[in-house]
Amino acid sequence: MLPVDGSGAIREIPQRSAGILDSVSRRYPPLADLCPCGRGEPYENCCAPLHRGDRTAPTAEALMRSRYTAFARAHRDPGGAAQYLTATWHASTRPARLDLPDGVEWTGLDIVGTSRGGPFDSDGTVTFAAHFRQGGVDGVQREVSRFVREDGRWSYVDGDL
Ligand SMILES: [Zn+2]
Repeated sequence: MLPVDGSGAIREIPQRSAGILDSVSRRYPPLADLCPCGRGEPYENCCAPLHRGDRTAPTAEALMRSRYTAFARAHRDPGGAAQYLTATWHASTRPARLDLPDGVEWTGLDIVGTSRGGPFDSDGTVTFAAHFRQGGVDGVQREVSRFVREDGRWSYVDGDL
């Protein structure tokens, strides 16, 4: 609906000169909304559906990314993060109690490589580097994680640092 002034005349709406910027910001969401997993998608379209249980991870890599994101967003929803991490941890290796590290800010994830772990595989590995900052110091955790797929669901088994 167009704005109308007292006389009933249609007011000129100043054209925003930021048309191009608008379309850019639609394509590239604000940094704060980007999913921490690094795929460049907004969280809502990326790992959120996995965290909510609306979708299951199609690949071991997708599960790996969603677990990293759970860690990275744990400060917003510690209970939800712990629940998701527990639910996606294989029953044979799952810790009885999951303590999320305190004071760790996860700053980025690099997927270094994968083997198998595809939609039709029953196992796979993901090699990654997870970057973090703790006590003002940058660190990186490198790991080869093992995953299995049972009943169509990927779960994390264990990893070699
Ligand atoms: Zn994601």
